[in-house]
Amino acid sequence: GEVDDPAIEDEKPPPLAGANVMNVILVAAECAPWCKTGGLGDVAGSLPKALARRGHRVMVVAPRYADYAEPQDTGVRKRYKVDGQDVEVSYFQAYIDGVDFVFMDSPMFRHMQNNIYGGNRLDILKRMILFCKAAVEVPWHVPCGGVCYGDGNLVFIANDWHTALLPVYLKAYYRDNGLMSFTRSVLVIHNIAHQGRGPVEDFRYVDLPEHYIDLFKLHDPVGGDHFNIFAAGLKTADRVVTVSHGYAWELKTSEGGWGLHGIINESDWKLRGIVNGIDTKHWNPQYDVHLKSDGYTNYSLETLKTGKAQCKAALQKELGLPLREDVPLIGFIGRLDHQKGVDLIAEAIPWMMGQDVQLVMLGTGRPDLEEMLRQFENQHPDKVRGWVGFSVKTAHRITAGADILLMPSRFEPCGLNQLYAMNYGTIPVVHAVGGLRDTVQPFKPYEESGLGWTFDSADANRLIHALGNCLLTYREYKKSWEGLQRRGMMQDLSWDNAAEKYEEVLVAAKYQW
Ligand code: ADP
Repeated sequence: GEVDDPAIEDEKPPPLAGANVMNVILVAAECAPWCKTGGLGDVAGSLPKALARRGHRVMVVAPRYADYAEPQDTGVRKRYKVDGQDVEVSYFQAYIDGVDFVFMDSPMFRHMQNNIYGGNRLDILKRMILFCKAAVEVPWHVPCGGVCYGDGNLVFIANDWHTALLPVYLKAYYRDNGLMSFTRSVLVIHNIAHQGRGPVEDFRYVDLPEHYIDLFKLHDPVGGDHFNIFAAGLKTADRVVTVSHGYAWELKTSEGGWGLHGIINESDWKLRGIVNGIDTKHWNPQYDVHLKSDGYTNYSLETLKTGKAQCKAALQKELGLPLREDVPLIGFIGRLDHQKGVDLIAEAIPWMMGQDVQLVMLGTGRPDLEEMLRQFENQHPDKVRGWVGFSVKTAHRITAGADILLMPSRFEPCGLNQLYAMNYGTIPVVHAVGGLRDTVQPFKPYEESGLGWTFDSADANRLIHALGNCLLTYREYKKSWEGLQRRGMMQDLSWDNAAEKYEEVLVAAKYQW
């Protein structure tokens, strides 16, 4: 759902990039609102718009996993070799909010909408090879508004291991041969835990000159030599960005770098941490389309108290929880896996259930953790809802209706839900890692400063301690609570700040500073 409220139409300011106006092509395996499994999709859907507002010509290239409404067939057809087979791709395009969204269609992507990273290792590898090979040539082949981007003054922004082959293809196929010599590539690390690893023999699938193998080879003290796509991309890209300062630092440590810390330390000169912004059109309590029905309501700083109370009541009603204004409602939204610390919540459940609270958890992922969510609900039907599913609407409604958002992530490159929460006057309680540490300044009661509660190790007792203080403040110190809410909502969390920093990186890549 696109929002079409004229009151919030983005006004296009004059170009801010001045002499640095560039052609930018962001390439990602997912792009909201069409296809998303997590933060990467949100970033691909919103950073480009902020870059366009600064005056750049901006395209997004993503696979076409399903028949999306807006993008139209451009009629362009190309063929690429993947594992010796000729695969045809075609391109669909839509110009929205100043950005050319280009979707690459191929039998390899079709029907993967709800399973973007599904299939076995080789299936995924081949999809990403096709995607990257074709994406490098998009600026020549796909006209947008009648004119192709061309390769001058061009920067690609690749994202995570899925598109880490793009910088490598750009170099091996073109720049090594004197082509596209003014084109640059930036690789963004959203999550280092997934790297495109495989046996060294996988090199034969990527179609590169023999000497390129060294870029991919990584020595693992446990598993020996293996093939690693992220490693090759990080070495080859002109610049590397990651999604917070905290994560940039963690990536350089042996615990945080997941085997790539050596390469990241070598790349330190070209690495920059930039905290993600949020899409303030879709994630704005004042205009949120998901709050326009079923008893919910839009609200702002001015109407915070009544508006949020109404959303809380609507959420309790929708979920069949006791309708009570005074009970603290705690939310969790996220992928159910080890990263997100769902098991720490499980450990804290006996304590939590001894408190007068309500708990709503939304997520999909590991089957055992999904089962756990259902069990919480079965065991505590008057206090807990465990919603197993991926529902953007429900995510918005929990963000609006909850008082507290719990994020006990073991690691969190940036984290978006805590940003959304703060924008909705919902107080985050987080493990202080990565982007969570960057964005949630701890509450200091004597100064009335800060934005939420943090705990400094992934441990259920620390979580309980932080959440306990948070609940106490909720119950006993209403003025402090309101201060926390207001400070959170008054922050400028938009992409405009981040886009300016990305632009500095693009310029540095262009001039090879
Ligand atoms: P990650 O990218 O590691 O999954 P982020 O916090 O950066 O974590 O982004 C997660 C995004 O995915 C948020 O927009 C969040 O609302 C959304 N999300 C996660 N799980 C669900 C779900 N079950 N239903 C709806 N949205 C979800």
